[in-house]
Amino acid sequence: MDSYRIGYGEDAHALAPGRPLVIGALTIDGSPVGTVAHSDGDVLLHALSDALLAAFAMGDIGQYFPPSNPNYRGLDSRVILQTVLQRVADQVGAYRIVNLSAVVVLDQPRLGPTRRDIQRQLAGELGIDASRVGVTFKTSEGMAPDFIQSRVTVLLQTE
Ligand SMILES: [Zn+2]
Repeated sequence: MDSYRIGYGEDAHALAPGRPLVIGALTIDGSPVGTVAHSDGDVLLHALSDALLAAFAMGDIGQYFPPSNPNYRGLDSRVILQTVLQRVADQVGAYRIVNLSAVVVLDQPRLGPTRRDIQRQLAGELGIDASRVGVTFKTSEGMAPDFIQSRVTVLLQTE
């Protein structure tokens, strides 16, 4: 019998000049700031990976990729996501992602022009159609100018 699972995850990183800004596996060209992180600091992929694990009560990415492990320095977050997708499949068998809704909170740079590219990147990583990938951009209204945050909800269907 089909059943549905919902997952929620969130993540935040500090911003600093001279670092790459990667959001949803897309590097934002020309950004004056980027994320301070052990991995590439992709808040959206981290929140999404946690949401996928949370949907099946499988903990969080910190268990699978502890920040204390020097091997994960500069890690491409697509590796984290693909590892999580595989771990979920190992545990629950066949499943599909019905849709996801991702929010990114960032004051600068403005991300509106990158929405389609981020949707396409995420859809490609997940093997789903871009129409199933909602991406919402917000600013902190100046309350958290030195941080980037992301929150992701995902709906999954198992067989
Ligand atoms: Zn993170």
